[in-house]
Amino acid sequence: MKHSILKKYSIAAAVLITVTAMICGLTAVVAIKWAPFLIYVAIGLTIVLSVVVGAGLYKGFSNFLNKRIRDINSQLDQAIHGNSLIRIKERQDELSPLETSFNKLMKELTDISSQQVDSRQLVDWAKKEIQLKDQLMEKTRAVEETNQRLIKRLHERDLMLRITESINSTLSLDAVLKEITQSVGNELEMQEFVILLTGPDSGAMNIAAVYGVSDPGRILNLEFKPGEGIVGQVFSSGEPIYVRDVRQEPRFMHYKGRRQVMGSFMAIPIKSRDRVEGVLGFMKAKVDGFMPEEIDFLKILAYQVNIAIQNARSYELVRRQADYDQLTGLMSRRSGMDKLRTEYKESLSGGRQFCMIMLDIDDFKVHNDTYGHMTGDEVLKRVAHFIKVNIRKVDIGCRYGGEEILIGLHRTGLEDGVVVAEKIRTSISAYDFYPDDDKKLGLSVSQGVAAIDKDCKGFAEMVNYADQALLAAKAAGKNVVYAYKGQKNLPGADLK
Ligand code: GH3
Ligand code: MG
Ligand code: MG
Repeated sequence: MKHSILKKYSIAAAVLITVTAMICGLTAVVAIKWAPFLIYVAIGLTIVLSVVVGAGLYKGFSNFLNKRIRDINSQLDQAIHGNSLIRIKERQDELSPLETSFNKLMKELTDISSQQVDSRQLVDWAKKEIQLKDQLMEKTRAVEETNQRLIKRLHERDLMLRITESINSTLSLDAVLKEITQSVGNELEMQEFVILLTGPDSGAMNIAAVYGVSDPGRILNLEFKPGEGIVGQVFSSGEPIYVRDVRQEPRFMHYKGRRQVMGSFMAIPIKSRDRVEGVLGFMKAKVDGFMPEEIDFLKILAYQVNIAIQNARSYELVRRQADYDQLTGLMSRRSGMDKLRTEYKESLSGGRQFCMIMLDIDDFKVHNDTYGHMTGDEVLKRVAHFIKVNIRKVDIGCRYGGEEILIGLHRTGLEDGVVVAEKIRTSISAYDFYPDDDKKLGLSVSQGVAAIDKDCKGFAEMVNYADQALLAAKAAGKNVVYAYKGQKNLPGADLK
């Protein structure tokens, strides 16, 4: 401590006190020696000087100390207001330990605040990291959702492909309907599924196929008129209807009240251009069980189902046109002969009886020539009608030639075949046909019957035997039945 305050002031005080003492002493000496009355002056002077010196010393010391303390105070004030970099210039006196401590404290403070800055930065970074992590998680969630949606779409696409492949795998309407109900019911996990289709006049719909119903026989073909129940509403409006809770929907009939259920029901029209061809009804056991995406999927499915049904209907129409003769409604030669051949083979291998009748209209040319071809056509239709009413569903009537008809009788022997032929013959000859108002047309047919027997070498041969018997019937005067038996043609009546 080079220039301590106390030292400075002690020296100053000592000097001043010494000077004062000397002045006082000197005054006292002078007073004692030359003027004793001056002793009071000397005492007064000593007091005044002492007071002045004491006051001066006090003032100077306190001014000095105040200034230093003010300095330190102001620095402290700045530090309190956040300036931790403030430092006091250290002097070499008694106050310097205070200044040194202040500076040390400030240094500590600076360190602490720099550490605080560091940790605040760390906190900021951590906060930012958490924020980024949150954002990342949100983005990941969005990507996952998109992924889920894409997977769902892929699954739906796959499902649609499987269903359309399966429903387009066949062209027969019955098989298509069966495929649709099976694949939709299984793949889409429906509790029940129903297909309603319009009839030929399009005035109403009938249940064509059902899935998930224990008693389909009671429900199949059930008719729904426009506006009747939910499906009837869809039929008349052409718009889908979603019933979230069937118990809350009075229009919901559920097969006309034949069964009571709970759940949700979705009805979608099957539309071909603007025409409603039918309705698809999907039933789930859960209330509000259909998601919006699922409803969209079902609408696309209805479109695919419509295509499959239209294809099957067109195919059936073309097949029917090819398989059946338009004029008579009997089978056409090609498909009829195929069926007869199959029946012949199956009967032969199964050891069953089978016989065929070859029928030809008598004097048909004359009818044509007399009354015209239109009447000829009418005659053909009448003859076909009498054949149809005299044979069973399992039997086959085929327009073999112009006015020659080949009939196959299932599980029927020669004798019974002759009986059927006789029935046909008598019902035709008994029919009064008046192409003109007054003139009756005498209508008759001749028939030859042949059956599978030990001599029969094949289908073509059997047709030939029936033909031979027919020729024999014609030769015998027409309007009779002849049978081929034992390589002979015998009148039917002679068989018994
Ligand atoms: P038959 O008693 O010997 O059988 O004498 P037919 O006059 O009936 O002689 P045939 O059986 O040979 O006659 C066949 C005639 O049938 C010839 C043809 O003009 C006529 N015909 C064939 N198909 C049709 C048809 O679809 N409509 C009409 N109107 N006539 C047909
Ligand atoms: Mg004829
Ligand atoms: Mg003929």
